[in-house]
Amino acid sequence: MTRITIALSKGRIFDDTAPLLKGAGIVALDDPDTSRKLILATNRDNVRLIIVRASDVPTYVQYGAADLGIAGKDVLLEHGGAGLYQPLDLNIACCRMMVAVRDDFDYESAVRRGARVRVATKYLQTAREHFAEKGMHVDLIKLYGSMELAPLVGLADAIVDLVSSGNTLKANHLKAVEEIIPISARLIINQAALKLKRETIQPMLDAFSTAISNKLIAQPAQ
Ligand code: ATP
Ligand code: MG
Repeated sequence: MTRITIALSKGRIFDDTAPLLKGAGIVALDDPDTSRKLILATNRDNVRLIIVRASDVPTYVQYGAADLGIAGKDVLLEHGGAGLYQPLDLNIACCRMMVAVRDDFDYESAVRRGARVRVATKYLQTAREHFAEKGMHVDLIKLYGSMELAPLVGLADAIVDLVSSGNTLKANHLKAVEEIIPISARLIINQAALKLKRETIQPMLDAFSTAISNKLIAQPAQ
């Protein structure tokens, strides 16, 4: 029997993935939000889930510790995607990678003047590429969370962060000034595993595709 390990993070990724997994006939026997287990058995003897930090999912899959994984595009851009196939956009955990500033900061004018802008972010690669493409000179400051705070206390002029409703920005007197890229979660596969375990993985891929299209038909993207 070919064993399959799927890496994913708890919280929104697990919550949004569970219905797709169910559509593919896979149901976790424990809820990662209440269980402390990091390895979850499923209704299928040959399939298990491992629960890791969102930004660690590509690493587990790259090195083959997991065959499949679910990771946000934001995380994949930072990781670089080495050793991974990214065959499916799951259309879940959708949001946008944006540049935001204090609502009294004139970003357009700073860009026009060619001012050096200080940018705080968790997403160094994506930010570096974005501002290089714009020909802007920026000083990047690496943070691990709560980016919204940085412009409020003078750590940075701008942040690069994920935005969905915009409520967190608004609550902190920030405004989004630029969209960098739309973000959603992707299915990722270890390249070697796909070759060696194709007979087991391909039907799962097909079931995922079907579950995604069924969901899109039931509830079209806004
Ligand atoms: P950690 O909590 O371990 O530091 P994280 O904050 O990236 O990591 P989550 O908040 O669970 O973990 O986010 C997981 C993924 O969900 C992100 O990589 C991103 O793709 C997506 N995501 C993050 N924020 C939002 C949001 N506001 N709306 C929709 N999707 C989001
Ligand atoms: Mg988070």
